[in-house]
Amino acid sequence: MIVIGSGPGGATAAHFLARAGIATTVLEGGPEHGSLGLTVRVRGATLVHWSARPLARRLDAVSFDNPQAELFEELAPGGLSNHWSNAVPRFSDIDFRDGTRAGESQTWPVGYADLAPWYDQVEPLLRIAGGTSDTPHVPAGKVRRVWKLPRAWDTLAERARVQGRDVLTLPYTYGAETTLSPTGNVFNAFDRLVKPAWKAGRLKVRFNARVIRLEWSAQTRGVTAVIYRDMTTGREERIPCGGVVVAAGALNTARILLESTSDDFPLGLGNTEGVLGRYLHDHPLGKLVIDLDKPVPVHPPLYISRPTLERTDPLYAAAGAQWTGTMMVAKSLLSRHPGRMPWTGFSIFGTMAPTTENRVALDGTRRGDGTAGMVLHIHHPPESQRLLEQTRDQIMELMGQAGLGPRLRVFHTEIAGNANHYGGTCRMHRSPRYGMLDAWGRMHAVRNVAVADSAVFTTGPEKNPVLTSMTLSARAADRLAQDLRAGAL
Ligand SMILES: Cc1cc2nc3c(=O)[nH]c(=O)nc-3n(C[C@H](O)[C@H](O)[C@H](O)COP(=O)(O)OP(=O)(O)OC[C@H]3O[C@@H](n4cnc5c(N)ncnc54)[C@H](O)[C@@H]3O)c2cc1C
Repeated sequence: MIVIGSGPGGATAAHFLARAGIATTVLEGGPEHGSLGLTVRVRGATLVHWSARPLARRLDAVSFDNPQAELFEELAPGGLSNHWSNAVPRFSDIDFRDGTRAGESQTWPVGYADLAPWYDQVEPLLRIAGGTSDTPHVPAGKVRRVWKLPRAWDTLAERARVQGRDVLTLPYTYGAETTLSPTGNVFNAFDRLVKPAWKAGRLKVRFNARVIRLEWSAQTRGVTAVIYRDMTTGREERIPCGGVVVAAGALNTARILLESTSDDFPLGLGNTEGVLGRYLHDHPLGKLVIDLDKPVPVHPPLYISRPTLERTDPLYAAAGAQWTGTMMVAKSLLSRHPGRMPWTGFSIFGTMAPTTENRVALDGTRRGDGTAGMVLHIHHPPESQRLLEQTRDQIMELMGQAGLGPRLRVFHTEIAGNANHYGGTCRMHRSPRYGMLDAWGRMHAVRNVAVADSAVFTTGPEKNPVLTSMTLSARAADRLAQDLRAGAL
């Protein structure tokens, strides 16, 4: 098997394939030492958190049909997990069912019950800190370190329930109590999931391997090789394979598949219905800062969930995640209220209904590394902006009801792509008419190819995506391994 990419999606697939004893090679587009940094934590206190590589905004790789959009990318082992903030809530049954209300085209082929056993297997790899009680909107994960919601939020939680929302601590990937990580993050997907198996000789890795396309064989009706540019020699290489897991990130995954044309698939590999690249979505993101009469806890972080289905239009919901972290705790010490601050900040993640108009396509140009240039069509609908503003007002109202004397200091909404949560370009759906992949992340039309990143999301629920994309990846890799062993591919 070839796995393309070693971000959270690809690293999880590689980890589960290697665990199943399948001969696996990871093709990583970035250089071996591409993710330099340092994290030092001693007995739960993070002392150093430094990344040598700033998060790169790509200006060369894509064009946009909307000047109000952007793309960040990290072509390095671990991908964007070099920079991520580590929030890992599970999607709930409600998140999966929301799409069904919007009609057949937005219906996931899997539900929470299908994923729950896989969340259970993935979460221990992430070493999560969080709460232990299920709430309707956020099922509890397998936590390593228990966080309790500070009592100071009790009144707010009570009032939030009247709005149909849950209030809890947001689960985070926490890593070990004492850890020294040679990257700028406690969980770099390559470092934690691929490197141990690679060092033990259980899988192979080729760095600087920029994948251009997959080679389809009309005879065997499957993909038989991967073509990549070796960035150290500049040569195009071909590596034969029995199957492929594509996990290059939601945009690069679509690009590679769109590039993989043949007589059987002139619109891109497996793209029998023209849906590849379409249904692109992103989290509309609002940033809210509130001054308060009374200082409030900064840790563990507060999460104000979406409201119930009955209170929202199909596929439109938003949730607030309180800002936390070492810097916030340090600031609280300086402001002479250890652990508390007289202001608080929230990232409000909203949603957009996926449509065929929002999409990624090839733009006919070719980049320096031999890969195709792309154009992104991404527009947040007006409903998304209204929803973010409504959620801002409801959070302010809750703070007031809790007697905290809130005053709005800052509210603004970010442009598309700023949340770094693109997804949906190669989505799962029961029918090839609405999605490229089946319920196991496997292509309907090409049975030895799976996709294992957030490209597979049928819709984009309001939660941070990584945990769910890793969970779907683990499940897809395990099924692939079973089929390979059974000779069913
Ligand atoms: C600042 C920041 C904070 C974030 N915080 C959170 C958070 O708290 N919670 C959360 O859930 N998410 C968060 N995210 C988002 C999260 O990091 C991404 O959703 C996640 O990394 C996506 O994983 P992926 O494997 O799909 O893609 P990526 O992480 O983008 O990895 C793609 C991989 O593919 C490789 N690749 C790309 N093209 C090619 C090619 N042609 N050939 C070979 N290899 C290739 C790349 O080098 C990389 O290894 C955050 C992101 C950022 C930037």
